[in-house]
Amino acid sequence: MRNFQPVLNEIYSNIKKTKDKGIVASYIPELASIDKNNFGIHLRTIEGHEYAVGNYNKLFSIQSISKVLTLTKATSIIGSDIFKRVGVEPSGHPFNQLSLLEIENGIPRNPFINAGAIVIADILVSRLENPKEDFLDFIRNVTSDNTIHYNESVALSEKKTGYKNFAAANLLKSFGNLKNDIDVVLDFYFHQCSIEMTCNQLSKAFYLFANKGKCLRNIVHLTESQVKRINALMLTCGFYDEAGDFAFEVGLPGKSGVGGGIVAFLPNNFIITTWSPGLNKKGNSKLGMQALEQFTTKTQMSIF
Ligand code: GLN
Repeated sequence: MRNFQPVLNEIYSNIKKTKDKGIVASYIPELASIDKNNFGIHLRTIEGHEYAVGNYNKLFSIQSISKVLTLTKATSIIGSDIFKRVGVEPSGHPFNQLSLLEIENGIPRNPFINAGAIVIADILVSRLENPKEDFLDFIRNVTSDNTIHYNESVALSEKKTGYKNFAAANLLKSFGNLKNDIDVVLDFYFHQCSIEMTCNQLSKAFYLFANKGKCLRNIVHLTESQVKRINALMLTCGFYDEAGDFAFEVGLPGKSGVGGGIVAFLPNNFIITTWSPGLNKKGNSKLGMQALEQFTTKTQMSIF
């Protein structure tokens, strides 16, 4: 069994010395006050060993990391029919970019840009009996943790200022790619983004992607082929217009959120979650990316 603690300690002390910590997302007012000195890493191996440093047990807004979990839930309900309404190509553009959506007739490039995630939210609103409750139950289920909650103030803060998301939803609606009422779909979307989790909880939730579709309790949520596809999407689209850079520097599939979290994993091996709220220009955690680059360089563990 490999002991990852020394390497995490080493990365922690390197990162703590770094002066440029990036900029906290302020376009969601409720996130603007988060202290950017927070920093945590949690690693869970496929056998269940855990290693951690820093603020790995502190709750933060998972934001776009939730998009992987909504895609998982939608895949388990309607399978590959999803891809009649959303593409599987990297967009090469920021997560909230709109012009491509108009040029491409309301079919978002992939499920991880905001427009794509809004279509997935629409699918869940159509298919789940009590969408917000059922989705939260699903997250609690895959994480084996009933304490996970939505943060209503963050959801409200985004509802009040989410002009681009309203624009995306309106464009989708105009192309017939949104079946439900715009306000209902966006209410679901803002809530999924507002979920708060710790690094520790995210490493548990993402266990199923490293474990061929089976969660910690050995329940099958996705087939092996579905997992392979979602993992491929994380590698190619999980970091928006920085997906190439993340693959180049880190070499793991994963997903980021503007709350400063990143979850990455090596299939059949480990899941690693970092949290540092300061973002780079592409909206990904600046120090989280640096920490993961150091991790895969020092351990020589990446998919390549
Ligand atoms: N809730 C954020 C938004 O819609 C999610 C963006 C992100 O985490 N990249 O803008």
